[in-house]
Amino acid sequence: MPRKNSRTSRAVVVRDNSALDHRIPLPLSERHLNFRDRWSYAPAPEAHNYIKLRSRYELFIDGKFVAPASGKYFRSINPATEEKLADIAEANARDVDKAVKAARQAYNKVWGKMPGRERGKYLYRIARLIQEKSRELAVLESMDGGKTIKESRDVDLPLVAAHFFYYAGWADKLEYAFPGRTPQSLGVAGQIIPWNFPLLMAAWKLAPALAAGNTCVLKPAETTSITAMHLAEILQEAELPDGVVNIVTGAGNTGKALVEHDDVNKIAFTGSTSVGKLLTQAVAGTKKKLTLELGGKAANIIFEDAPIDQAVEGIISGIYFNQGHVCCAGSRLFVQEGVFPTVIRKLRDRIATLRVGNPLDKNTDIGAINSRMQLDKICELVDSGLQQGAELVQPRLRLPEKGYWYPPSFFTGVTASHRIAQEEIFGPVLSVMTFRTPEEAIERANNTPYGLSAGVWTDKGSKIFKMVNKLRAGIVWANTYNKFDPTSPFGGYKESGFGREGGRHGLLPYLTLN
Ligand code: NDP
Repeated sequence: MPRKNSRTSRAVVVRDNSALDHRIPLPLSERHLNFRDRWSYAPAPEAHNYIKLRSRYELFIDGKFVAPASGKYFRSINPATEEKLADIAEANARDVDKAVKAARQAYNKVWGKMPGRERGKYLYRIARLIQEKSRELAVLESMDGGKTIKESRDVDLPLVAAHFFYYAGWADKLEYAFPGRTPQSLGVAGQIIPWNFPLLMAAWKLAPALAAGNTCVLKPAETTSITAMHLAEILQEAELPDGVVNIVTGAGNTGKALVEHDDVNKIAFTGSTSVGKLLTQAVAGTKKKLTLELGGKAANIIFEDAPIDQAVEGIISGIYFNQGHVCCAGSRLFVQEGVFPTVIRKLRDRIATLRVGNPLDKNTDIGAINSRMQLDKICELVDSGLQQGAELVQPRLRLPEKGYWYPPSFFTGVTASHRIAQEEIFGPVLSVMTFRTPEEAIERANNTPYGLSAGVWTDKGSKIFKMVNKLRAGIVWANTYNKFDPTSPFGGYKESGFGREGGRHGLLPYLTLN
């Protein structure tokens, strides 16, 4: 029986190893070396003493850092230590109005009239500056958001620069992107982003909007505003004309003021489905264009003929990447019955090797949960899974005393009606289910209100094509998972939202085609 961790009284369960110790001898091909604790990693901390954190971050409006009209600031903390990093300005409706006015003026006077090849030069310059400062930005991203340095350094920052480079290339080629049409920018774009990939989401929003000739007002998430303000410094250094990008920090009300502002032409939002629905209501009946990139509950489907070891690595990167704070995370695993015991055994062994802890240690696989609120949400959903009768598997590990942590976990014995099979947990928790036939896999995978992503693991190309065509998901990865590329469109069906980001498709929401 799983038992509750007494320190936290949360549903952190230590796995019972007795089943492992008494299992029947494995065939030679399935045996593996087990070093237990005898081979542990030496600490490999990333230096961060050179990072220049300001004690207070102001708003970025019309090319300058300005104090908020509200006079209010909120704390941004490091979720791995619970230490305060800085005070962040809280923008109210007056600040948002100032930012929108600055963006409108910059659109009318400078950016809207600027030839694409000139706009492209600025974007290339921003991309190069991001590359130059990428290590510092990666460290900041890990300190502010809790993600591992391995990921912020090797995934987030390279992709941030790649998005600016990619859209810089489109800035003077919009006519070629849409042959026979005359693309025209919209005006001012209001962009609201979440906390799971703070800089990357800023790049996904800003780069295509600017390439298409729009000006922007960006609202970062409350818990992860710091790197956006360092991006603002880069925009100054790149000498981007004043007002082309404005950044207003604050909580949900700041986002609401931006959405409701009369002089915004387009709203681009990434975040929860519930807030996405509010935004849909708010822009209904206005002329504002809207794109929504919302939640997901992706099916990762493993067939019996799949390369199982690779598939297990795909499961790991599918759900434990970025602590599971990923809208396209492979959070529902469907395993064909014949390989279920093998997959579960390998997965159980593999999660025991994942290192959870200091995000700034280069060996860490799973960093801190972004906020206490998110940790509470994960715990609540895990509790519901236990109450509804699913079985939780977690490795035996010691979590740091301070900060917000959750161990890599998976549930077996899950049915489609369980909350953990339906709702986005947005944490390192996987729900495992089985299937017998491809038809059953498709039916069960599509049995969700979401439709953002999916994964298929099989040796047969024909099976991949069959599955890909029938899965109602915006992105389907075959024999891989969580791979991102600025040239490739990303977006969902159903309650995962509408509109695409990335690729040529990512330009469309920021243009009208005459
Ligand atoms: P939200 O949808 O609340 O936040 C996303 C962004 O919208 C943030 O910048 C937020 O500001 C802002 N916002 C909040 N309320 C409003 C509003 N009424 N009008 C305009 N903007 C608003 O997500 P949460 O951070 O609360 O996360 C909750 C859940 O959402 C997660 O557990 C996860 O399931 C899902 N989620 C999905 C993401 C995805 O990529 N699909 C990303 C993040 C979360 P602020 O940060 O200040 O609240």
